[in-house]
Amino acid sequence: MKPIIGYVRVSTEEQAETQALDQQKHRLLKAGAERLYCDIESGRNLDREQLEKVLDLVIRREVSAVYATRWDRISRNAQLYEEIKKIFRDSGVKLQLLDQGEVDLTTASGELNSDLQVLFAVHESRMLRERINKGFEYRRSREVAWIRPPWGCIIVDEKYELDHLPLLYCLLIHRPNNYLALADEPDDSEQLIWLSRAKIAREFFDYFLQVRKPTKLLRYLQDNYDLQKNQDLTFPALKNFPTSRRGIQQWLQNPVFQGHTAYQKFKKNGGVKTPDEWDIRRNTHPDHCLISEEEAKEIQAILAANRKQFGQLDATFFLTGHIFCQTCKSKCGLKRAGGGHAYYGCQHSATVCRNRKCVRIIKIEEAIINKLVQRVREIHQLPQEAMKSSKLVELERQYEALDQIPGSDFNPVLKDAKTKLFKEIEIERSQTDNIATQMLCHPSAKKINFWYSLTQEEREIFYNQLLERVVLLDGEVTEVLLKV
Ligand SMILES: [Zn+2]
Repeated sequence: MKPIIGYVRVSTEEQAETQALDQQKHRLLKAGAERLYCDIESGRNLDREQLEKVLDLVIRREVSAVYATRWDRISRNAQLYEEIKKIFRDSGVKLQLLDQGEVDLTTASGELNSDLQVLFAVHESRMLRERINKGFEYRRSREVAWIRPPWGCIIVDEKYELDHLPLLYCLLIHRPNNYLALADEPDDSEQLIWLSRAKIAREFFDYFLQVRKPTKLLRYLQDNYDLQKNQDLTFPALKNFPTSRRGIQQWLQNPVFQGHTAYQKFKKNGGVKTPDEWDIRRNTHPDHCLISEEEAKEIQAILAANRKQFGQLDATFFLTGHIFCQTCKSKCGLKRAGGGHAYYGCQHSATVCRNRKCVRIIKIEEAIINKLVQRVREIHQLPQEAMKSSKLVELERQYEALDQIPGSDFNPVLKDAKTKLFKEIEIERSQTDNIATQMLCHPSAKKINFWYSLTQEEREIFYNQLLERVVLLDGEVTEVLLKV
């Protein structure tokens, strides 16, 4: 019986910070590996001594199986992936990934199934999310403010405060008749009327409590404060005030205005949880309340009643943020209709935008996938070099030239120069190269079915990395723009 061997790799930082190497070793031995090969290096490094040995054993069919914990332990490089796949396929040696199951590279369907790059992309994005969550967790444990305060507030020393900075009140409704005569008054003149964002925010709350409809508040802003979809035309004090019905609803419900801070407001898919699911820390900034507890309850009751009447419009989908209205250029929101169909449409169609027709998600994805496949076909016509930045090509050329010099691995000066270049190449690659663009170079990506076979989570990751925007007009997709 030929032996089972294990392959382990950790990066230098990982090894310094954690017991990653010991953990992997332990798991592989427990799973039945009889001998272990270890590299401590970066995942993109192409010449890894121990990996070479392992592949050599596979080629000579001297082992029955190779165990590793995950695909990214073996390689994060698309080209090497292709080579390794071929080596395992030709030799018939089994590749077993403890976290990802047995990988069957001998059949075409197995190959597609085992599309490890996809698994890896998902894994990488999960890790990123985990790191971000840890950052959130840390803020929550100290009860400090979020990075972005709601309009009307600022953050001082990690706490929320009302924004009392004086603004010249030359807005349309309250502009005094003699405003032209006031133009030459010094900024601190008592003849000028001053307001602050906090005061304006309070006015909005009063108006909403009176009219009880978010869209009416939106109209009020347009009529009286010149609030435009195109924020460049808006009175500067109102910059960044939400201009959609959903944005207004979220602003009105923000507990910051009651002196509280809400954590864990978002669902995993990016949607907003309902307020009763939030983790609210009370009285984090009691001296900076804008509305009372009773008023907040009243607002919640009004919005809940509206939801009953109009249906739940707060749901999001992973395409949110990528879809734009051609008429008013703003982001489109998700809308649901009877029969469970979901649509995207302009969020301002109820008020100022004339682009009223929505587009079904299926139709949008069809347009995206067609565009992706078209792009993949173009990419496959290009030489590999075309996908690299000119800086990367130059760095790689220099590295190769050094590598050609005999004994460059023993001469300390040359070796040092090589290491430096190598690090630069790694940095340049990590900036230009992501798993999604590597994916585009993969032969499977040419097939439309491949894209449809991805799970929603996988598509979400790819669209985030590949999609610049989709533009809608009158029920049709008019443009799909990719980042690559
Ligand atoms: Zn619009």
